Amino acid sequence: MTRVTLLAGGVGGAKLAEGLAGIPEIALTVIGNVADDEEFHGLWVSPDIDTMLYTLSGRVNRDQGWGLADESNRALEMLNCLGANTWMFLGDRDFGLHIYRTERLRRGDRPSDILTDIASKLGINSKIVLPTDAKVQTRVLTDGGWLSFQEYFVRERCQPEVLELSYDGLELSKITAEAELALNEAELIIIAPSNPLVSILPILKIPGFHAALQNATAPIFAVSPLIAGKALKGPADRMLTSLNYRADSVGVAHFYENIAAHFLMDSHDFGLIDEVSKLGMQAYIADIFMPDLEGKVRLAREILELYKNVSRVDSK
Ligand code: GDP
Ligand code: CA
Repeated sequence: MTRVTLLAGGVGGAKLAEGLAGIPEIALTVIGNVADDEEFHGLWVSPDIDTMLYTLSGRVNRDQGWGLADESNRALEMLNCLGANTWMFLGDRDFGLHIYRTERLRRGDRPSDILTDIASKLGINSKIVLPTDAKVQTRVLTDGGWLSFQEYFVRERCQPEVLELSYDGLELSKITAEAELALNEAELIIIAPSNPLVSILPILKIPGFHAALQNATAPIFAVSPLIAGKALKGPADRMLTSLNYRADSVGVAHFYENIAAHFLMDSHDFGLIDEVSKLGMQAYIADIFMPDLEGKVRLAREILELYKNVSRVDSK
């Protein structure tokens, strides 16, 4: 068994998580992102964590990559009829999860414990852990002012230009014991091809997280979410550009240069190998596109093989 710890956001992260979970010789722990969390209709919604839960329990809507398969929206219909704001899509069965989580939070249960129970009740074999039990929320500055992350992402459909990002609550947060243990005990650590700015940075910036990564003995591999400078889905490329970062795999690698020693990118980005190497990382060309389950498992296996080669060299 190889103990693998994956740092991941929502849809892009869950794709690689599903691939890793599909390899029998891997014991997977996912450290998810809570910075997309927001309250809707009095309920605490945790979109990235829920995408991971639905994906790893085989319940995800495969066409969307998020939400539940076989879902209805009657609760939202009623909320709409009552004049509530219903731009955030929340399905009926999905509501059940938000009700359960919120009720336990009100009772004072620790977010990490609630998540462990939910994952176990959904029959998930991998571990999913929170990077922090505190509230950390990404906020997005647009020319219309500061928005919550979901206002930007869902209500405004990522249309406004992102002028600045802030991660509210970071100062008061700290890494969970579970995340620290997952980094400490890992034999291989992977940073998923998630949005670096709004999925991975809000994890890395949690006080104690960076130190825990540096204390970890496992080699760290990061996978680019961009192919030929384009995000496969979502606003990562446009966000990088508007915040004055390079919108390509080199731009992404910059965020991980003092963290990950290994970086995977697509064959379209062959020309960027030298620049990534100059950041002190070992660059690899790999098939990082995961259009289906086969693609997800193929990439997961490829990373596992690269890891095995690295550890073989190290132990010589
Ligand atoms: P979100 O929280 O749902 O937005 O998802 P993530 O932050 O985890 O992932 C979003 C990123 O996943 C986007 O920047 C996409 O480019 C990337 N992505 C989606 N599908 C793939 C894929 O098949 N391969 C790779 N390498 N990246 C992908
Ligand atoms: Ca997200």
